[in-house]
Amino acid sequence: MPNFLKLGKYSLGMGDRFAHQARAQLQACVMAANQGAEVIPVWNKSNREHLTIGSDPAATRAAADAAVKALGWSKAYHVDADHIRLETVDRFLPYSDFFTIDVADCIGRAADSATVDAFVSRHSELIGRISIPGIVEPFATDQSQVKRMAAKYLLAVTEAGRIYRHIASQKGEANFITEVSMDETDQPQTPPELLVILALLSDENVPIQTIAPKFTGRFNKGVDYVGDLAQFEKEFNEDLAVIAFAVKQYGLPATLKLSVHSGSDKFSIYAPIRRALARFDAGVHVKTAGTTWLEELIGLAEAGGSGLALAKEIYAGALEHVDELCAPYAAVIDIDRGRLPSAQTVKSWSAEQFVSALGHEQTNKSFNPHLRQLVHVGYKIAARLGNRYLKTLEECEQTVSRNVTLNLFERHLKPIFLLQP
Ligand SMILES: [Zn+2]
Repeated sequence: MPNFLKLGKYSLGMGDRFAHQARAQLQACVMAANQGAEVIPVWNKSNREHLTIGSDPAATRAAADAAVKALGWSKAYHVDADHIRLETVDRFLPYSDFFTIDVADCIGRAADSATVDAFVSRHSELIGRISIPGIVEPFATDQSQVKRMAAKYLLAVTEAGRIYRHIASQKGEANFITEVSMDETDQPQTPPELLVILALLSDENVPIQTIAPKFTGRFNKGVDYVGDLAQFEKEFNEDLAVIAFAVKQYGLPATLKLSVHSGSDKFSIYAPIRRALARFDAGVHVKTAGTTWLEELIGLAEAGGSGLALAKEIYAGALEHVDELCAPYAAVIDIDRGRLPSAQTVKSWSAEQFVSALGHEQTNKSFNPHLRQLVHVGYKIAARLGNRYLKTLEECEQTVSRNVTLNLFERHLKPIFLLQP
């Protein structure tokens, strides 16, 4: 494996859509560090987010650097080119040192059968009973199953290798962290599939440090996990066992860990994740993004006056453009439109009513997950307001940054990294 920049054991991905919250976000990592958990901040933004906002990767880097300087953060930090492909990676190259190579679209594409056969005969260890420390029931596979799995993922991994080598040729292989993501697809990857994927990646010589599989269950935007928690916990544990095994078996980077593309706020899986990390002494990268944008709106509403008025205006705009906003996210939202309050109703709300409906307090009777998911995908409306949005953000900075920091610290960092397992 080539020499490469190493990612810390625990890391938190944070999205800062309008490049105004990096400092408030970093403050949450400062608080975690003060309480004994070193969590490396990673600012992530996808090409899709940049296009929607009309922003540039240079701005993400500048905001991260400025926040680090302002708070005197002396530990590592990174800027993640999130969900890039060969055709979108180039403009991130000067500003990112973390690349999430998205190859989900290549899963299941027909692979050359001779190449698949060669993989299978090279990896006889994948066939039969595979005993992996930490997994009670050994995997049982036969040749045709391994062949099917390899055929399903071969082209995706080949593409990951192609993109990795492109980045390495531009940045130098020692200067960045490589993640491979397969989460934006229909079918979750099972632990035996993960093992095959890691074997393929090793053959492709990709020094992968984080892998983002699609987990079982639904990861809707901005709201909690929907699915079988026991099944999630079992698979998450098995994935960790597979990773530890593959690191040894295939000489993958010792820093290799899971990346959980959470879609933000998967509170009910945080305890299972924490238990599993303790059990395997494993690291994890948890990627959030939209949760911070939602806190911006909550902070605006809480400020009252023009902040609250703007938050209501954004909701009304989102409601008006509900089809357009939801279309790109159809697979990761479940909105019952009958439960969305009218713009007129919201217009009459107090700050407290707005915050209660939008804030992610599940025990609050006024919390409305339908409204929350719509606002989550509605950042395009704020982007269209341009400077008016940014100016109001600056005017309401106090309430906004307090909400941004406390959300990341109390609801994410604490339950994942600070509470006792
Ligand atoms: Zn993702």
